[in-house]
Amino acid sequence: MTTHHHRTADILVIGAGVMGASIAWHLAGRKAGRVLVVDKGRVGQGQSGRSSGLIRLHYTFPPEVRLALCSLETFRQWREVVGRPGDFRVTGLVRLVAPQDTQALIANVEMQRSLGVNTCLISSAELHDMEPEWSLDGVDAAAYEADSGYSDGAAVAQDLLDRGRELGAQYSPNTRVTTLRVERGHLLGVETDRGAIDAPRVIVATGPWTAPLLSTVGFETPIENIYHEVVLLQHAEAPRGRNCACIDSGVGVYFRPDAPGLTLLGAFEGHGGADPDDFPQSASQDSLAELVAAAVRRVPALADAGIARSITGIYDLTPDGRPLLGAVPGVEGLYMAAGFSGMGFKIAPAVGLTMAELLTEGRATTVDISAFRPSRFAEGKPIQARHEYTVHRPH
Ligand SMILES: Cc1cc2nc3c(=O)[nH]c(=O)nc-3n(C[C@H](O)[C@H](O)[C@H](O)COP(=O)(O)OP(=O)(O)OC[C@H]3O[C@@H](n4cnc5c(N)ncnc54)[C@H](O)[C@@H]3O)c2cc1C
Repeated sequence: MTTHHHRTADILVIGAGVMGASIAWHLAGRKAGRVLVVDKGRVGQGQSGRSSGLIRLHYTFPPEVRLALCSLETFRQWREVVGRPGDFRVTGLVRLVAPQDTQALIANVEMQRSLGVNTCLISSAELHDMEPEWSLDGVDAAAYEADSGYSDGAAVAQDLLDRGRELGAQYSPNTRVTTLRVERGHLLGVETDRGAIDAPRVIVATGPWTAPLLSTVGFETPIENIYHEVVLLQHAEAPRGRNCACIDSGVGVYFRPDAPGLTLLGAFEGHGGADPDDFPQSASQDSLAELVAAAVRRVPALADAGIARSITGIYDLTPDGRPLLGAVPGVEGLYMAAGFSGMGFKIAPAVGLTMAELLTEGRATTVDISAFRPSRFAEGKPIQARHEYTVHRPH
């Protein structure tokens, strides 16, 4: 039987992906009042459960690096901080760029080191020693970070939500927000398919479902939904070498080791106009062939691998490839954390922290997130890093 009751919260979080779960955890930990998380389905079942889970620090814009670095500390201390075993696996990560971007790579490694990142430039010969099976034609230098790796999106969302609930947050699955209730520019709460919820403050953390929800209150969210495909390749033996994760804009793929005998491989490019409620649940043969062919240019041994399975999902891409974090213009009490453009998983712990700081203290102090404000496109101020890459779909 479906129950319809009128509920109240001091802060309502819409969406129980890694973002909503992390925000709720940090709000509950800060005793920010009655915190309620609702999800139209269940925790982690959105894009978080489809994530490749890469955790890395190589970014071009300093606040992105800071969010990633702050989050890495949480992934490393999962047991102490979140109270669960966690499964962060350190593989090390190599960042390769197209030849025309080598100078930008050098400048970005220097910037990251100045922010405290454990990263360095390595030569093609050094990389060859680490990864003898990679083909390094045209590679002059690479960035290497020893502390990076990957984890599991669905498990991270579940752990953060569970910890948030232990600290007092409430959770209501199978509860779809249908309308944001606004009167004279002030938020009153929401309507859901299980009744109304009164809440003076609401954070929208609904990934690729965000734009239609916010357009009901007149905010045109510049998010485009992009369909992406990932494949798990199966091979008899592990490739020789250190087996680092790699993000490679030279050939337009990223890959990382997975369970023994498996390599996860994903593409930089996807297809626009995707519907998050209706997209193919496995990759097409043609795009798998294209993806593997691109990867084989870097790791020729992958030509012999078989396909274990594919994973598909949606990136909520913004025009500058960076998230929208903060107050939604025009509605007092309404906030958003969306538009993560395929890079959100690794920064979820710090996004939760900084959004909780914003709501409880009026501004984020651990990392200044003001550059990510949702109004920046209307202001004509998209983020532009000093040394952007010419090919730069993030992961
Ligand atoms: C294939 C793929 C690979 C990726 N790889 C990486 C990677 O390697 N590293 C990385 O850092 N990032 C990666 N990402 C990106 C990362 O996974 C996302 O940025 C992150 O998971 C976004 O989390 P979220 O909480 O914003 O969204 P979601 O996990 O999508 O959560 C949104 C939630 O909102 C709920 N919801 C939506 N509308 C409503 C409504 N009206 N009412 C109630 N609930 C609602 C949904 O049910 C959903 O659970 C990848 C993404 C994909 C798709």
